[in-house]
Amino acid sequence: MKLYTKISIALILGGAAGLIANIGELEWLTDALIFIEPIGRAWIRLITMIVIPLVFASLIMGTTGLGDITKLGRIGGKTVAFYLCTTAIAVTIGLLVSNLIVPGSRIDEATLAALRNTDPSQGAALVELAAERPSLMQLILDMIPSNPIAALASGDMLPIIVFAIFFGAALSALPVERRAGVVSFFDGVNEAAMVMIHWIMKLAPYAVFALIGAVIARFGLEVLNSLLLYAVTVVAGLILHVTITYPLALRFLARVNPMAFFRRVRAPQLIAFSTSSSNATLPLTMETAEDDLGISTSVSSFVLPLGATINMDGTALYQAVATMFIAQIWVGDISLVGQLTIVLTATLASIGAAGVPSAGIIILIVVLQQALPPSVDPAAGIALILGVDRILDMIRTAVNVTGDLTTASVVAHSEGESLAPGVSIDRAA
Ligand code: ASP
Repeated sequence: MKLYTKISIALILGGAAGLIANIGELEWLTDALIFIEPIGRAWIRLITMIVIPLVFASLIMGTTGLGDITKLGRIGGKTVAFYLCTTAIAVTIGLLVSNLIVPGSRIDEATLAALRNTDPSQGAALVELAAERPSLMQLILDMIPSNPIAALASGDMLPIIVFAIFFGAALSALPVERRAGVVSFFDGVNEAAMVMIHWIMKLAPYAVFALIGAVIARFGLEVLNSLLLYAVTVVAGLILHVTITYPLALRFLARVNPMAFFRRVRAPQLIAFSTSSSNATLPLTMETAEDDLGISTSVSSFVLPLGATINMDGTALYQAVATMFIAQIWVGDISLVGQLTIVLTATLASIGAAGVPSAGIIILIVVLQQALPPSVDPAAGIALILGVDRILDMIRTAVNVTGDLTTASVVAHSEGESLAPGVSIDRAA
């Protein structure tokens, strides 16, 4: 049985067990599912353990393997431009569906009054967290590590990327015999990391069962009554983005068969869904890009870690819908200028969101502060939508990872790479 099939079965069984515990109010089953949840958490730690060594080693390999180092500037420019474009499209789709469905206006008066009275205290803690964020200039400065070992130790992705590229570039400037030892060392690290991923993935179905069972068992189904339309709007937007934007980009910019692409990226999508973390999914995303899509290490080792850190189409789209929903609840509609502010702030805010669970809702506070009138309390807005956020986080993370893999395919094609047979339109299976 394929790994993807096993993970799917685990997902369905875990979801069903959680749902039975939830609907049937079976306390013993809920307790049992919560008891085994640490199996899932342990697995997330196991796969996250690979992220830093893998990114560091593969990026050094990727940079030295480029041959011509100026290529890197070109790849970087294309990657960032494509990331920004797809994110802006995602936000626009989010605004479109919010204007069409108007999730905040189809709520009866009694529910509306209850929603407006949501206790803001839960949101207040997150607002405090958001206020601790450094300034833009500081963020840019922080990309240059004053101590690369400290960056590696604390897992700061952007400074690690900067140092690995710089180091890889310097390495490729050395005569072959001087660099051979270092290159083969990092090659070995890279290969060993890949073997570790294979082993860890064998345990994935158990982890998925444990994670999903606990999430669904804990989920308050009653919150769906008032937030269902909001959740449906987010999911509708995400579905549109995945079924229109990505297939078009794949077909016309990467010359990739979208159906074949989606068949091959199912495993990272499911793991992103189960873990709600692009970072934890990154090792599998990289393996899928190289082994299943045929993307070179040079492209995947750069585009994907950068994507897990700055490219969050699903998160940006969700932020647009959430902002519109909160506005509709408190101030009615939002002007065109206000909506354009959302496009800008949500695009930038999603870049600042880390690839970890719930990062999106913390950064949403920044969007709310920028785009909504001061009469709307961001803490109350956040508290309002918190109930369904865990589930939406899972779905948007799967979209974020799909966006990273789409971009990697587009960039690889634009660099003259032909993707795997069966995926590439130009190469039969
Ligand atoms: N969990 C998301 C991710 O890792 C970020 C978010 O909260 O939207 O991609």
